[in-house]
Amino acid sequence: MTNELADAWGAMHPAHCKNCHAAFLVPPQAGAPNCPNCFAARLEPMPALQADAPPELVIPFSVSDATLNANLERWLREIPFKPASLNLRALQKNLVRVFLPMYLADARAYGTWTSQMGFDYLVASSEERFDGTNWVTQRLNETRVRWEPRAGELTRAYENLPAPASEAHARWMIALGAADWREPPFDSLRALAFAPDTLGNAIVQAPDLAPNAAWQFARAQLERRAARECETAANAQHHEKFELRAAYGEPRWTLLLLPTYVTSYSDDGGKWIPVRVNGQSGFVNGIKRASMQRAHSWSIALGAAALGAFLLAALLGVAGALYDAFLPALFVLGVTFLLCLAAPVPLLLAWQFNRQQAAK
Ligand SMILES: [Zn+2]
Repeated sequence: MTNELADAWGAMHPAHCKNCHAAFLVPPQAGAPNCPNCFAARLEPMPALQADAPPELVIPFSVSDATLNANLERWLREIPFKPASLNLRALQKNLVRVFLPMYLADARAYGTWTSQMGFDYLVASSEERFDGTNWVTQRLNETRVRWEPRAGELTRAYENLPAPASEAHARWMIALGAADWREPPFDSLRALAFAPDTLGNAIVQAPDLAPNAAWQFARAQLERRAARECETAANAQHHEKFELRAAYGEPRWTLLLLPTYVTSYSDDGGKWIPVRVNGQSGFVNGIKRASMQRAHSWSIALGAAALGAFLLAALLGVAGALYDAFLPALFVLGVTFLLCLAAPVPLLLAWQFNRQQAAK
């Protein structure tokens, strides 16, 4: 390891995953953890990282253990026939803290814009209605939008435009609770200046996109902000076809680390399925899968009980013939019938649950 790397990152060492090619900085006591990106291989040490510049900012973990556990518990509650490794204790045991990279860009824009601006206005109208005996007039106020072309000049600096530092950025943002991946579900105003001890022994995933590659995203973000600002300045409530013809100053890039928890459980086939938690909001996300094996065991158990009940009914039938009392035999036969109906239900429930989750 170079001295520079050690100065910047403390005792963290570079590692990578041979399966998904993600690169990380791993704290010394973590050993060779499972890849927190794909969960299909263990991380292996490597001599150096391609992008090893330390971040400028770190958003600290701020979810309490109680909230984290409650959210995980709520997340797994609705899964029927949970795989053996899908319980709160196992999820807690596999939990690792991982910082994900993201860029913030500061840039200046100088140029002109054109847009259709929409202005709300009220239209009063009345409606005649027959209420059974009389015609009544009802006043209605309806909001309509008047569109007008507008244009202007813009010279402005924009700060903290979010931009991806990884190919997986959009997927991460959705998994961590964003409704729109372009709006990261984190409050970057609460970020702290980076120092190795702000990481608190968490794993850090390295960027796999250079800032140049992220510029088009930052620019799109800048245009969205500019469009909203021009809308407000025009006293409009809507905008459409916003076009900005601008020159941009050299952007200034900041690497920011986002706090996440990653845990996992294994499905019937032994494949590890990741569950991610937003380390700032506590939002939990992961594929939910019922165990067909456990559902199968339940179906077999119900089938065996049905067979037992049938044998009992037959025995009681014979005894009933001898003593002229068939009622208990009929009752047990009814129970047999219900058990036969119930036997395939676990399999159907688990199958249907997995199908619904896969369709999401
Ligand atoms: Zn991997």
